[in-house]
Amino acid sequence: MNKPKSRFLRVKCNDCENEQVIFGSASEKVTCLVCGRTLAEPTGGKSTITTHILEVLD
Ligand SMILES: [Zn+2]
Repeated sequence: MNKPKSRFLRVKCNDCENEQVIFGSASEKVTCLVCGRTLAEPTGGKSTITTHILEVLD
């Protein structure tokens, strides 16, 4: 059985300091739930994180 490579990242919004767990290979843009800032953007199957990463959760 193949497990999908799911990796979650704990990030902190650069604007409002909200902490949020996001999926590291999201296919859609991820925005801050509080202020709507872009936290990650899809780039060729991977996410480009556009905010501060606190922790990588495997
Ligand atoms: Zn925010």
